[in-house]
Amino acid sequence: MKALVYHGPGQKSWDEVPDPTIRQPTDVIVKMDATTICGTDLHILKGDVPAVTPGRILGHEGVGTITEIGDAVTTLAVGDQVILACVSACGKCAYCKQGVSSHCQADEGQSGIGWIFGHLIDGTQAEYVRVPFAENSVYKLPESMTPEQGVICSDVLPTGHEIGVQYGHVKAGDVVAVIGAGPVGLGAMITSHLYGPSRVIAIDLDENRVAEASKFGATDGIVASDPEWKEKVMAMTDGLGVDVAIEAVGVPQTWQMCVDIVRPAGTIANMGVHGKSVELPLQDLWISNIDISMGLVNANTVGTLVKMVASRQLDPDPFISHRFKLDEIMDAYEVFGNAAETKALKVVLT
Ligand code: NAD
Ligand code: ZN
Repeated sequence: MKALVYHGPGQKSWDEVPDPTIRQPTDVIVKMDATTICGTDLHILKGDVPAVTPGRILGHEGVGTITEIGDAVTTLAVGDQVILACVSACGKCAYCKQGVSSHCQADEGQSGIGWIFGHLIDGTQAEYVRVPFAENSVYKLPESMTPEQGVICSDVLPTGHEIGVQYGHVKAGDVVAVIGAGPVGLGAMITSHLYGPSRVIAIDLDENRVAEASKFGATDGIVASDPEWKEKVMAMTDGLGVDVAIEAVGVPQTWQMCVDIVRPAGTIANMGVHGKSVELPLQDLWISNIDISMGLVNANTVGTLVKMVASRQLDPDPFISHRFKLDEIMDAYEVFGNAAETKALKVVLT
């Protein structure tokens, strides 16, 4: 089969590789119907995630049709069209039971952050994918949903929801600022409305993304290069600062922006993959009673989010800006990687 293989920082190619096979009775093999590219793939390609080693197939979002099932799989069948959660996990170990399935303790090659970062198991930017612990890691695509809507439920919506909104403890009436209006930040904006915030402020360097954010529930937008960006946030919050600042970029400047605008007793929820350390002004944060949270997506809420998309409480359609055939993936990376010029949000490959 063909797959997009990572060959070390800055290097990837669309290669002929062996087809995946069932290795564990809990596996399924899926023929991909739709996949996409994530900001994390760009981080991996920059070398920000050294745990991902050369030779790995990239990608952790997708919808596909099951072509083979392991002997222990009883709730899925060949022919089922399924959404692949960006984390595959056993569901039974101590970490899975505690809700942190991104740290699933199952054997190497089966689970854990491997799925999302592609360093333990091969990813979804391929014609076929082996999904370990399939019964716990895929969700049947509801009839009312298209594969491209399903792809948005793999990572964008669960990361925004779990690591931005849930870790940020967004509650009714809150003022939420999301720094970074890429797909993951937009995922936090759209899912924050499940909890009734009074205001959702989108902040990004890219004017187009700030403008687009209104389609995802942003009530206000600020271009990050505006020298008065912080004053504008303060004016929107009666000088208090925001209840929840969600970081959705992964650079030191945006972490600092969160520190600058969060109000005393507010929360900073960091979603971005930073690749290197950022300064943590503990004294300032301590004296302001700031709650800080961060982490890898666990994909525990994929099933819930799929139901909400199926019942039209969440609309993933505005995420999709470009469509390609899977074998045009090198072009798709060019488009996604130059979003300021191409106005790309999510590029879907079918
Ligand atoms: P993206 O690259 O599409 O979007 C990032 C956005 O940040 C862009 O719109 C860009 O214009 C904006 N930006 C860059 N520098 C900025 C600055 N100084 N000020 C304001 N805005 C700035 O990425 P994405 O796919 O939306 O992902 C966002 C982040 O979330 C990435 O770091 C990604 O790796 C991370 N991520 C984390 C998890 C997790 O498990 N925690 C899962 C998926 C993605
Ligand atoms: Zn586990």
